[in-house]
Amino acid sequence: MSDIYKHLLKELKNTEYTFDKKIIDNHCVDWRGKYKGSTDIVFFPKSVASIIKIVKFCFKKNIPIVPQGGNTSLVGGSVPRLNKGEIIINLCKLNKIREIDTISNTVTVESGCILQNINDKLDIHNLQMPISLGSKGSCQIGGNIATNAGGLNFIKFGSIRSNILGIEAILPNGEFYNDLKTVKKNNTGLDLKQLFIGSEGTLGIITAATLQIYKKTNDRVVIIVCMEKFKQVLSTYQMFMSSFGDFITAFELMNKFSVDLTEKLNGPLKLPFKGNYYCLVELTNFVEIEDFNSFVFSKFEKLTISDMDLIIAKSENENKNFWQIREEIPLAEKFLKNVIQHDVSLPLNNIESFINKSSESLKKYNTDISIINFGHLGDNNLHFNVCIDKDLSRKEYEDFKNKVNKIIFSYVKKLKGSISAEHGIGQLRKEELIHYKSPEEIKRMKKIKNIFDPKNIMNPGKVI
Ligand SMILES: Cc1cc2nc3c(=O)[nH]c(=O)nc-3n(C[C@H](O)[C@H](O)[C@H](O)COP(=O)(O)OP(=O)(O)OC[C@H]3O[C@@H](n4cnc5c(N)ncnc54)[C@H](O)[C@@H]3O)c2cc1C
Repeated sequence: MSDIYKHLLKELKNTEYTFDKKIIDNHCVDWRGKYKGSTDIVFFPKSVASIIKIVKFCFKKNIPIVPQGGNTSLVGGSVPRLNKGEIIINLCKLNKIREIDTISNTVTVESGCILQNINDKLDIHNLQMPISLGSKGSCQIGGNIATNAGGLNFIKFGSIRSNILGIEAILPNGEFYNDLKTVKKNNTGLDLKQLFIGSEGTLGIITAATLQIYKKTNDRVVIIVCMEKFKQVLSTYQMFMSSFGDFITAFELMNKFSVDLTEKLNGPLKLPFKGNYYCLVELTNFVEIEDFNSFVFSKFEKLTISDMDLIIAKSENENKNFWQIREEIPLAEKFLKNVIQHDVSLPLNNIESFINKSSESLKKYNTDISIINFGHLGDNNLHFNVCIDKDLSRKEYEDFKNKVNKIIFSYVKKLKGSISAEHGIGQLRKEELIHYKSPEEIKRMKKIKNIFDPKNIMNPGKVI
């Protein structure tokens, strides 16, 4: 098989590719283990020049390419399909931080940099990245851009899209696309770099980007509020927004079932209460208030809070413990059978109606159903995962999945939401996209794909 690649491989270093079956297998399965594809070779280019060589070769030979970052995609976007002759270009070795500009507060990074590693480097300058995800130790900035990642600090800094100043990429025919600007204002016609953000590897390979970065402060206070009814969740949100506004760096929701799940990983919760809904709120001291904890405590003394329990972390250690509960939900969920994940967004004032109506219809359909409901409430984003934790046959599982998706997405549509808030489309939501996006949008998305990639070699079978 390596014969096909003979000439190309001569132009690469031998550490820039592998035929090792064991390594290849790891790169062919997605994080949740739901999609298993195949390839004969994985490339690990160390330079932009190497990527150009590989992509030009693939373009000439009509070989489909799967760009891969940290392979933490939750929608099967980063793995090849089975027996389709696709190759993987994994960006992990293209991982230099090209520039940290501490005057403009920007960073220029190559796409294979791991999000956590960039943050560690920025930390030295008391700066931080705008996004933070549960997968920060593995996901790469190129993957973050290609999926327009949201994450835990969206409420404060917005998605990655709102923080990208410039992008460098390799187009499907191997051409070099350079729009690596570092300026914030740039009104020079169509902003083409936006097309790469959220394109899930279908328009080209992102090789570098310049991002806005922010002042870092470790001075934060994490609060957990516990309530019985969803109505109280919304009034809590309003109360925090009006009292703490710009200090809020995260506002997360967790239902009882999802919090209980994490106890299986961590042992009994260290929270002094239990309820149907929990909100985790992070407040960060960006304005150098001298004693931030006291400031937060004093604010609470003035608030009238009824019918809810609340605990304020008293140390960074407690902050971390509280966050651990939220961050471990996706990991704890892995121990359940038959989980159908949904990453939806809804207008805030429709969320209660969505939860009630969907839960009612789901329970009517099958009383064994449990709902793992958590997410970034402050960004209108719910992870609404539905599970039957017992053995099902293949057919039973498929019927269950189709029915559940239909129920949930029909309410999402009725209540003016989106079927994918932050994880993207990949392979998982490809069929549904056609039903939940307008025909005009689909038509234009296909036309744009065709302009960039007329041979359809860049991550085919994903998104559209
Ligand atoms: C525990 C956990 C928590 C998560 N939390 C969040 C969250 O809060 N918010 C959120 O938005 N997501 C979250 N995710 C999903 C995932 O981490 C993000 O989508 C992340 O941005 C993907 O980055 P990656 O490097 O792993 O990309 P991959 O999974 O490798 O790839 C994702 C997509 O991007 C494409 N791609 C990757 N690199 C490039 C490149 N250089 N050029 C072009 N295309 C490329 C791939 O082809 C694929 O379609 C979570 C995942 C896990 C496992």
